[in-house]
Amino acid sequence: MTQMKRFDAIIIGTGQAGPSLAARFAGAGKTVAIIERQKFGGTCVNTGCIPTKTLVASAYAAHVARRGAEYGFANGDVRVDMKRVKARKDEVSGRSNKGVEEWLRGLENCTVIQGHARFQSSRTIVVNGEVLEADKIFINVGGRASVPAMPGIHDVPFLTNSSMMDVDFLPEHLVIIGGSYVGLEFGQMYRRFGSDVTVVEKGQRLIGREDEDVSQTVREILEAEGIRIRLNAKCISLAKRENRIAVGTECKEDPLEVLGTHVLLAVGRTPNTHDLGLDRAGVATDDHGFIMVDDQLQTSVPGIWALGDCNGRGAFTHTSYNDYEIVADNLFNADHRRVSDRIQAYALYIDPPLGRCGMTDTEIRKSGRRALAAKHPMSRVSRAFEKGETQGFIKLSVDAETKQILGAAILGTGGDEVIHVLLDVMYAKAPYTVVQRAMHIHPTVAEYLPTVLSKLEPLRER
Ligand SMILES: Cc1cc2nc3c(=O)[nH]c(=O)nc-3n(C[C@H](O)[C@H](O)[C@H](O)COP(=O)(O)OP(=O)(O)OC[C@H]3O[C@@H](n4cnc5c(N)ncnc54)[C@H](O)[C@@H]3O)c2cc1C
Repeated sequence: MTQMKRFDAIIIGTGQAGPSLAARFAGAGKTVAIIERQKFGGTCVNTGCIPTKTLVASAYAAHVARRGAEYGFANGDVRVDMKRVKARKDEVSGRSNKGVEEWLRGLENCTVIQGHARFQSSRTIVVNGEVLEADKIFINVGGRASVPAMPGIHDVPFLTNSSMMDVDFLPEHLVIIGGSYVGLEFGQMYRRFGSDVTVVEKGQRLIGREDEDVSQTVREILEAEGIRIRLNAKCISLAKRENRIAVGTECKEDPLEVLGTHVLLAVGRTPNTHDLGLDRAGVATDDHGFIMVDDQLQTSVPGIWALGDCNGRGAFTHTSYNDYEIVADNLFNADHRRVSDRIQAYALYIDPPLGRCGMTDTEIRKSGRRALAAKHPMSRVSRAFEKGETQGFIKLSVDAETKQILGAAILGTGGDEVIHVLLDVMYAKAPYTVVQRAMHIHPTVAEYLPTVLSKLEPLRER
């Protein structure tokens, strides 16, 4: 081992929190080392949001082209060239990956190290045989696709969100195990590229964390495009059958099988915390390997913080970036921001997208609050029928006493953007009447929010 190198801060991982934090330290004149073992930018940039949303855009274009006759143009036979689709995705994703690396390497006071980091003690990290020391260490190691020990998993080839990034051909029949956010985005995308797609889900419905009406409408949207959905697949198993992969879905002796050419595993994420030497630092994790943190993202060891997916307090790019803001504001601005102040918000990027904020109906009912609720079909939103995209609905709930918005789901064209109208009012802790009295632009989906709010009635099954 060579001599120990000292820094003011060490950051492990260049996901959505690490690079901005490195820039903050470097900008404040502090020395910082940032370590990355794979690709700069982490999951979102290389195997998550950016490449998948780029692929979703290609799939959407193909879908609209196939509907050309409805819009008044000749469409002919739309055939997708997967090599070009992948090249476009690589270009967009590669630009961000390069951007993060160049940004970090260009920062004064910042040392960029490529290699696998491990704790040696609560103040020291070993990487490439070198020991680095700092009083402040930040863990931003993210996660990877979970690979559960289902029968046959080692007997067949399978894909994950990472290996899907190398696919430059059209799978004849893609079987997706997992009917949640990642699985459904890939499912619709590949169906639109031209594959047969079957989604196998062990739960009773798709995206089980959402309300039933959301799950049901998402199912209808996907089935209308020819995606086959098999729910209640209690005992999923895999086996080779000549040139096919059989995905068993039932626990019986003679089980029902789905025969596919390729299998994508989309059954959740596992934090990258098993090979970090956390025990040497004394950093506590929960039963699933997530690093336990307090409301300001400090771990069980003073001087060590955990940000992003690895702390189990969020599973999105924006939650990881928000973790950075919380840590940076606490350290640099003495602004005591807390994780518990943030409002849940995310989108599911099928088409039409689902934008979500705040509580679901189920959560509201559990909380025992008296709530008012309203729902409006997208088929009665003029922007939606002008665009020929009328699937879905807007629904929202407000607290009957405080008049504050409790939660909303906008499943429909523009839902991922329009949801922010409600989210910002929630952060402002303003009553819903602010939205109701605002003059919105015509024709937009957002202009219907006052109309939806005028239909509030006591929350019941919907
Ligand atoms: C298919 C898919 C689609 C998604 N789409 C969206 C979306 O549309 N919107 C959204 O908000 N979120 C989306 N997500 C989630 C989002 O990508 C993640 O929440 C986000 O990237 C988490 O970032 P992070 O900062 O926690 O870490 P990551 O981005 O995972 O980065 C962690 C980095 O740490 C590095 N690392 C790990 N261990 C070590 C070590 N020991 N030494 C050195 N380096 C290490 C890794 O190589 C990695 O680069 C998607 C995820 C997937 C899988």
